[in-house]
Amino acid sequence: MIQDFNYHTHTYRCGHAVGSDEEYVQAAIKAGYKILGFSDHGPKRNFSNPRSHMEWSQIDEYLSSIAALQEKYRGQIRLLAGFETEYYPQLHDEKVELKSRCDYLLLGQHSIVPETTSSYFHNNTDEEILTYGRQVCQGLESGLFTYLCHPDLIMYRQERFTDACAQAAEMIGRKAAETNTPLEINVHRIAKGKSEYAEGLRYPYPNREFWQILARYPVRCLFGVDAHDPSQLLRTEDLEIAKAELEDLGLSLIEQPIL
Ligand SMILES: [Zn+2]
Ligand SMILES: [Zn+2]
Repeated sequence: MIQDFNYHTHTYRCGHAVGSDEEYVQAAIKAGYKILGFSDHGPKRNFSNPRSHMEWSQIDEYLSSIAALQEKYRGQIRLLAGFETEYYPQLHDEKVELKSRCDYLLLGQHSIVPETTSSYFHNNTDEEILTYGRQVCQGLESGLFTYLCHPDLIMYRQERFTDACAQAAEMIGRKAAETNTPLEINVHRIAKGKSEYAEGLRYPYPNREFWQILARYPVRCLFGVDAHDPSQLLRTEDLEIAKAELEDLGLSLIEQPIL
């Protein structure tokens, strides 16, 4: 397998992932992972969304479930407990507190504002794409995040690769290099195959055009399974497919665990 550590794993607590915590651990061991990091969608203290992230009141139970599994599977796999979360400057202190409770935070900027269910998973306007780029840069500058998940998230339902997409990719590449923050090649959507867009068939992500621009910057990259189902951890071939998709871009892949 091309990478035996994965820091991007969800649990049922976010409301859109399935399986028990233990099933994720067992699948990771079976697949050959040496390190499995849980990074469920982090809670927002004043905003609930049962279909998108856990509640603030679930933090302790989440962390103790992973601690108990680490005891049970000690010697077989190393477990870590973190959160994947958005960054908003007005919630900076809350993110600092969240980080102090766990092993690490991953930056995953899914929505424009914290208090609604609005996400970037649609055909975004140029303004939305540039907002995404700016928000990601603010998150990278905060220094709170171990890495940036799916930098190309806005390409998920994006019909065309516009100038705004190129500008967002440039902003992110530059800031990731400046802050030395690794970028994730997200393989979550590989299993479902390519989808039809105005510009043809492609994976929702990783998106080649976006990565072509990121690759011009001195950034380090790693794969993230973004498992929402334990069986996704068994699909180690998806890492190879993603690698082949971006092979000729000369990306610098991280080979040793970063946590
Ligand atoms: Zn999710
Ligand atoms: Zn995720």
